[in-house]
Amino acid sequence: MNTYAIAIHGGAGTILRSVMTPEKETAYKKALEDAIVAGENILKKGGSSLNAVEAAIRTLEDNPLFNAGKGAVFTNDGKNEMDASIMTGKDLMAGAVAGVQNIKNPISLARAIMEKSEHVFMSGLGAQEFAKKNNIVFAADDYFFTEARFEQLKKAKETDSIVMDHNDEKKFGTVGAVALDTLGNLAAGTSTGGMTNKKHGRVGDTPIIGSGTYANNNTCAISCTGHGEFFIRSVVAYDISCLMEYKGLSLKQACEKVVMDKLVKIGGEGGLIALDTKGNIELPFNSDGMYRAS
Ligand code: ASP
Repeated sequence: MNTYAIAIHGGAGTILRSVMTPEKETAYKKALEDAIVAGENILKKGGSSLNAVEAAIRTLEDNPLFNAGKGAVFTNDGKNEMDASIMTGKDLMAGAVAGVQNIKNPISLARAIMEKSEHVFMSGLGAQEFAKKNNIVFAADDYFFTEARFEQLKKAKETDSIVMDHNDEKKFGTVGAVALDTLGNLAAGTSTGGMTNKKHGRVGDTPIIGSGTYANNNTCAISCTGHGEFFIRSVVAYDISCLMEYKGLSLKQACEKVVMDKLVKIGGEGGLIALDTKGNIELPFNSDGMYRAS
């Protein structure tokens, strides 16, 4: 049996020791472990990287510690607008969703768009209508209400700033997964509530194929977290794939170039998880920290 691999992230940013209690640290570690186990259980039985990525991300979306699904941050007008995307490296199929409300697991909606619509990218009310027709699970507003996120919004409004989720402590909180299955197929996915105090309608890099998420069996699978505007302008995920495909860089060299050089030069804070078909894993970030596991 060939090798399999999985890596996940729970967002980048400044994770301050001073606000990290032992209980909190245990909770974060357990959440990351649960997500890895959910994905690995699928991969070790010969399941697909697509299923593993979706399963790992769903566990993180269900956990209020992360800025995705249940723990999604608030927009300026107090709503939760979520973005997600998923891609398979074998056939370059992709699905993405932006600005949806009340979707319990946006990653599953992104997958449904990939598999059940003739489109790649849907947004807002249209995406929600599609979700209803395809039996995607909805949750009421109060499901997404978390005290901590609401406090973050209040603080962000006081200073009129748009903040990455873990940025109290300064962190991003978006979640993502990349996986390689025993058939040698890569997949990647990312899910987020975006940035605290973002304008209604703002879309970050997370649902943009090539910016926040990318998978290609010829090169790599990537899921990003960070200040989305910079990741969009740098087309981060696809840039890493291109450096490998057209310039012959290794996964490590390509990640280094994009995260530690190109992004830094334009002020783009954040990181990503990356995996190639040989099972090499890179978890680079230029922020102070990034929740990650592999
Ligand atoms: N990249 C996400 C966005 O800009 C934020 C994050 O990674 O937490 O929407």
